[in-house]
Amino acid sequence: MHTEDLTVTIIYDNRVVAEGLESAWGFACLVEGLEKTILFDTGGDGPTLLRNMAELGIEPRDVDLVVLSHAHWDHTGGLADFLDVHSGVTVYLLESFPDEIGDDSRSGGAGVIKVSEPTELCGGATSTGEMVGQTGIQEQSLLLWTDSGVAVVTGCAHPGIVSTVERAKEMTDRDVLVIIGGFHLFKDSDASVRRIVSRLQELGVRWAAPCHCSGDSAIQRFADAYGHTFLPCRAGSVIPVGKLLQTAQSDREGQ
Ligand SMILES: [Zn+2]
Ligand SMILES: [Zn+2]
Repeated sequence: MHTEDLTVTIIYDNRVVAEGLESAWGFACLVEGLEKTILFDTGGDGPTLLRNMAELGIEPRDVDLVVLSHAHWDHTGGLADFLDVHSGVTVYLLESFPDEIGDDSRSGGAGVIKVSEPTELCGGATSTGEMVGQTGIQEQSLLLWTDSGVAVVTGCAHPGIVSTVERAKEMTDRDVLVIIGGFHLFKDSDASVRRIVSRLQELGVRWAAPCHCSGDSAIQRFADAYGHTFLPCRAGSVIPVGKLLQTAQSDREGQ
């Protein structure tokens, strides 16, 4: 496995990088470069998901696994339409999901695996398992890892982005170097956002790619704090996770 090929492409987001793509409230991204190709979340609706996939040159049939972070509509809304065009996948959802999401996936022809504990998805990709924060909303996040470190991809990070990074460090015994996704900070005060950003920096997170429900002002705070290691993240962004992790490794070796 050439880990440098590991990438995360944002398919569905509240914002887009270029004309031709559509924005809507929700999140979906594609992980490529591992043994399996993973669609993480499916956005809020099928037509936008499928149109953006087509615009980005992504073939639905190339997807092996669909991982749903949590049961909110803006992450599961595109699932049924996706399965209509490609049902040859295994869908990973949480034990706590409403039954109908699993039932609909099975009747659509997909395999279903219910996750509660941390679960390996394929070499280099692991689910954190079900986490619950103060909000009481159950969610799983995706860990992508190589020998050089870990990238964490979150849907809404309802259990808290800091707790998710802490869990990822514990689980993998590696540094979390990259965070990507919705961090659900759009309702947080500026003081709270600043605390969270500095806590993430203390934890050693080196690249940050906030999108979706992170909120515009929090995204700006990340941009200010991270400078050149802030990664713009909208539908159409391709995040070269493998290369970033390798850069960190070369920097460590060069020290
Ligand atoms: Zn949510
Ligand atoms: Zn969301």
